[in-house]
Amino acid sequence: MSGGLAAGYAHIVGAGLAGLSAAVALAAKGWGIRLYEASAHAGGRCRSYFDDELGCRIDNGNHLLLTANRRALGYLEQIGARDTLAGPPDAAFAFIDAQTGQRWNLRPNRGAVPWWIFRRARRVPRTRASDYFGALALRWVGPSATVCEALDRRRWLFHRLWEPLAVAALNTAVEQASARLFWHILAETLGRGGAACRPLVPREGLSETFVDPALATLRALGAEIRFGARLRALNFGPDRVAGLAFEAETIELDGGDLLILAVPATVAARLVPELTVPDAFSPIVNAHFLCAAPPDSPLFIGVIDGAAEWIFRKREVLSVTVSAADRMVDRPADAVREILWRDVALAYRLPALPMPPARIVKERRATFLASPEQLQRRPAATTRWPNLFLAGDYTDTGLPATIEGAIASGFTAARQTAARRGANPRRGAARGAGPEAATGTGRQQQHTLP
Ligand SMILES: Cc1cc2nc3c(=O)[nH]c(=O)nc-3n(C[C@H](O)[C@H](O)[C@H](O)COP(=O)(O)OP(=O)(O)OC[C@H]3O[C@@H](n4cnc5c(N)ncnc54)[C@H](O)[C@@H]3O)c2cc1C
Repeated sequence: MSGGLAAGYAHIVGAGLAGLSAAVALAAKGWGIRLYEASAHAGGRCRSYFDDELGCRIDNGNHLLLTANRRALGYLEQIGARDTLAGPPDAAFAFIDAQTGQRWNLRPNRGAVPWWIFRRARRVPRTRASDYFGALALRWVGPSATVCEALDRRRWLFHRLWEPLAVAALNTAVEQASARLFWHILAETLGRGGAACRPLVPREGLSETFVDPALATLRALGAEIRFGARLRALNFGPDRVAGLAFEAETIELDGGDLLILAVPATVAARLVPELTVPDAFSPIVNAHFLCAAPPDSPLFIGVIDGAAEWIFRKREVLSVTVSAADRMVDRPADAVREILWRDVALAYRLPALPMPPARIVKERRATFLASPEQLQRRPAATTRWPNLFLAGDYTDTGLPATIEGAIASGFTAARQTAARRGANPRRGAARGAGPEAATGTGRQQQHTLP
């Protein structure tokens, strides 16, 4: 905990990772927290649930962290959940070619000097050290370049490494993905050496790591958390947000209160007038197969030239992720299950028949499309209303739509509240001290969700 008791309430709408991380950061600074979530649970796009058909808990997606994800790890420290992650002691990425069955391990060395590219056993088969320097081309590209325009896609390494990494990190096909954003991710991870690329996954599940400990921390700090509270409209005064209109009640904001809107992009755009947000999205398909793999098999395997892209070994399921899954998202679940199982059985050396029960989850709007055009549409955390802040993976974090990006956005929104107060100490110096709270005469406008 730091700082004294703050002057007002922080009203936070949306209990995904952006909202939770903002709430945790502000609660630790002494703010009174009121967190509102439309659904019956927290976590948003990053959570676990019990699947009746499979009879076990599953994660809604396979979320991989790397040791480079310092905001996510900082958040887990804050909520006392850092030790709920597990991973190998060193960076190691197992791959299989689904056409030939060839297997290899990508093993970057720990330090920032990448001597691993000179070791055949540590790099992609049939590549040379000099191929890897080709990625430096990404560094010099303009903001409108795509990954395909920046890198030579005819290269073996493109297909075997850069493309799968870009698609996984950006959830966007390489023909559309921003080269600059991909460079940023590479520089933050592989560019900093294997120590920054150690993979980490939740030991139990996404909720047990990212969500439940956050709710417990918030409750211990006195936060009020309301589920089933869908924000329908914001009431705007002349120069600030004056109230939150939920179905059952309207909550007036005092002069010292602030609001962080941590809802998805499309919802934010409907609540806030003239807000520009990304408006193109990219699907992810997940398949959860109810079967156990040997405990000494890799925690996850990257699949090249298959239908599956990444397969994760979990306690009760083998779980497949297909990013930028436009070609798969409209196919019938049974067909998806069949083509993905073929790769899973091969990768984890399991009998092809009988095919185990599976749950296919299609998220059509899993993340915004990380194209150069869409990146231009990302809004800042601050708005023209001094008591309104935005958080969410779609805001301008400089990161793709990921756990790290969502948490970074929550932390930024929390930090900006302090900056705003510093710039205008009268506003919010004490609860109820704001100009509108004093007069209560501001002409109000409502911006409503249909
Ligand atoms: C299938 C899938 C796989 C993924 N895989 C990865 C991965 O491997 N690695 C990775 O880092 N990231 C991954 N991501 C992305 C990551 O999950 C998201 O970037 C992150 O969870 C977004 O968090 P958020 O808080 O910004 O938004 P959300 O999680 O969308 O949270 C928004 C919250 O606002 C609530 N809400 C909406 N409207 C209202 C309203 N009117 N009033 C009140 N509340 C409202 C919602 O119910 C929700 O809880 C994946 C996402 C998906 C869908």
